[in-house]
Amino acid sequence: MYDIIVVGAGTSGCIIASLLSKKGFNVCIIDSKKADEVGNKVCGDALISRGIDSLRFEPHKSTVMNIASALRFHAPGIKPILLKTRVFLLDRFRFGQYFLHKAIDNGSLFLDRCKALAPIVKGDKVIGIKAKVGDSKNELYAKLIIDASGINAVIRRKLPKDWFLSKSIGKNDLALSYREIRKLKRSIDTEYCEVFYDRKVVPNGYYWIFPKGDDIVNVGIGTRMNIIDYNLKERFYKNIISNPIFTESEKLSHGFGILPISPPLSCSTASGFIVIGDAAKQVNPFIGEGIRPSIISAHIAAEIIENSKNFDQDCLWDYNVEFMKRLGAKHATFAAFGSFFEKLDYKEAKVLLSVFENKSYNFDDFEDFNISLLLIIKALFKGYKQIRSILKELAIIRSVRSIYKNFPDSPNKFLEWSYKVEQFWKDYL
Ligand SMILES: Cc1cc2nc3c(=O)[nH]c(=O)nc-3n(C[C@H](O)[C@H](O)[C@H](O)COP(=O)(O)OP(=O)(O)OC[C@H]3O[C@@H](n4cnc5c(N)ncnc54)[C@H](O)[C@@H]3O)c2cc1C
Repeated sequence: MYDIIVVGAGTSGCIIASLLSKKGFNVCIIDSKKADEVGNKVCGDALISRGIDSLRFEPHKSTVMNIASALRFHAPGIKPILLKTRVFLLDRFRFGQYFLHKAIDNGSLFLDRCKALAPIVKGDKVIGIKAKVGDSKNELYAKLIIDASGINAVIRRKLPKDWFLSKSIGKNDLALSYREIRKLKRSIDTEYCEVFYDRKVVPNGYYWIFPKGDDIVNVGIGTRMNIIDYNLKERFYKNIISNPIFTESEKLSHGFGILPISPPLSCSTASGFIVIGDAAKQVNPFIGEGIRPSIISAHIAAEIIENSKNFDQDCLWDYNVEFMKRLGAKHATFAAFGSFFEKLDYKEAKVLLSVFENKSYNFDDFEDFNISLLLIIKALFKGYKQIRSILKELAIIRSVRSIYKNFPDSPNKFLEWSYKVEQFWKDYL
């Protein structure tokens, strides 16, 4: 019997295993992959630094290929908009391996090629998991199970349907992406992570070109999964790889990936159980950023677990409260804003973006939605006709942020809160 079993050795799983074993817990971390495949992940590889610096978390220099200074946002007919922030462009494989070895060095036991199949539940508590190693099925027991299995959410999805965790919201929950790593024949600017919003290329999505070095880029395209009625890879080649910077470039790797882009999961704990990372839908649904949230939530969870007398729902509850305060409220705000933005017609979206064009802003202000009245007046002068709708939208954003920030401080008040939240998204999304 372990103190803790972590299912999944991705970013969130390895970091929480590493933190908890350092605190003295007897941790077992499992992954269905072979040890030397951990870290292989189709991703944009861009880690935004905001919020991880205060955790004194900085990726080891051996795992960072470039540090950019801003996200540069492009749209047709609009001059680029800069969002200033430090962005680490990771060697994703090395980053994954680094944290796996850190977890092992801190004392975690790692079982590779071990596939979790389902939770073992006794009464209202999770007490273990069923897993498959090779051809043999096993049962592994622990005082606490942490589901960090990414988009699979293999344990969470199989918990009893009447538990709080199953109260999940959001209709268009998933995004599909295709991305390649390419070596270029020419040098590019390594300062900016380029993001392109062009509905003709990818409706309800965007494409990106991130510089991992002066001649290596991560280039990809992603959009909501439920509305794709075209071949995403064909679009990628026709509209992006046709760009002259890719002439004679060499494809180093490629692949499809799926990520959650819904509002955050309403509840991520049960007795004997916590879910973190993509498995808990902890991704910014507007920009598809999930590495930083995984890191932050692993730190929050590790602290709550350390201070938990036992691993009952009441003791673990503060993980929900803290996550919602630090990131969940922001993610919910972006889910609301994203839905508003997608519904704008092309002309309206362009006028709205033109208010910000050719300027630079701090990423923090963008993430905190610090939108001044002056900008709204500017939009009016630029010919944006739907001022009433944007004022209404800003009021909605404020209210959704406040709902999530005021996540109930005890499980007793959860059902009332989640009813309110579900009604909100039902009307809104
Ligand atoms: C195309 C794409 C581009 C992205 N770009 C960015 C970006 O630029 N910046 C950013 O911040 N985020 C980005 N993201 C999101 C980011 O990659 C994820 O949010 C982040 O990796 C989540 O980490 P995780 O630990 O929760 O899950 P994962 O990294 O997916 O790890 C889950 C682990 O669980 C294991 N596992 C799954 N099922 C089982 C099972 N049954 N038994 C045992 N093990 C299992 C898997 O093998 C895996 O190792 C992108 C995602 C995609 C798909």
